[in-house]
Amino acid sequence: MTIDDKLTAMVNYQLTARGITDSRVLDAMSRVKRHLFVPDEEKGFAYDDRPLFIGSGQTISQPYIVALMTEILDVKADHTILEIGTGSGYQTAILAELGREVYTIERIKALHTQAEERLTALGYKNIHYKLDDGTIGWKEHAPFDRIIVTAAAPEIPERLFSQLQVEGRMVIPVGGKIRQDLQLVIKRSNGDRKIINHGGCLFVPLIGKEGWQND
Ligand code: SAM
Repeated sequence: MTIDDKLTAMVNYQLTARGITDSRVLDAMSRVKRHLFVPDEEKGFAYDDRPLFIGSGQTISQPYIVALMTEILDVKADHTILEIGTGSGYQTAILAELGREVYTIERIKALHTQAEERLTALGYKNIHYKLDDGTIGWKEHAPFDRIIVTAAAPEIPERLFSQLQVEGRMVIPVGGKIRQDLQLVIKRSNGDRKIINHGGCLFVPLIGKEGWQND
């Protein structure tokens, strides 16, 4: 099987067959080659239906979870997006395919540096990188149309919510360290929030001022 065959099978059997319908998301997931984002020893499994190790004790989510979070986020072509947890840069690339500008924050230097080098080499020009605690957001570029958090928070970080545009959407796993709920948070014009639960998930912890205090 060629890489293209594996990618097509991933999109058909892991995404479309499980209910991902947004054609922009499916197209973006068809364009970004996942094997370019994982270490050599994981490349053989890059299109499998599971998370993979990316170094520094962190993981890249299974393709279905990336697609589900992206579909729920509902990114439009003119959107500015804040991503917390750059990791390998795979989800960042999907977001950069869909939106106008992506601001991504990672707290682990090795991952931050590698992802920036990787995405720059792949030609992405609409991504901005920061090494920091993402739970405090990126105030200088707020408000954001969309915010996605790819690590598990004990609760919705208030500073991130304050940096969300009115009628903006945030997708974030919220709960304990062992299991979380994937939540869609919509900011209403009066500042209230509507929370829609999209089921159980399992993410590495969000570590920071408004996250967990340690691993
Ligand atoms: N979306 C990534 C990808 O496609 O490879 C995978 C993200 S991984 C599941 C979660 C990432 O969040 C890890 O790289 C971890 O270091 C990072 N992280 C955890 N707490 C963070 C924080 N407070 N600020 C920024 N990044 C954080």
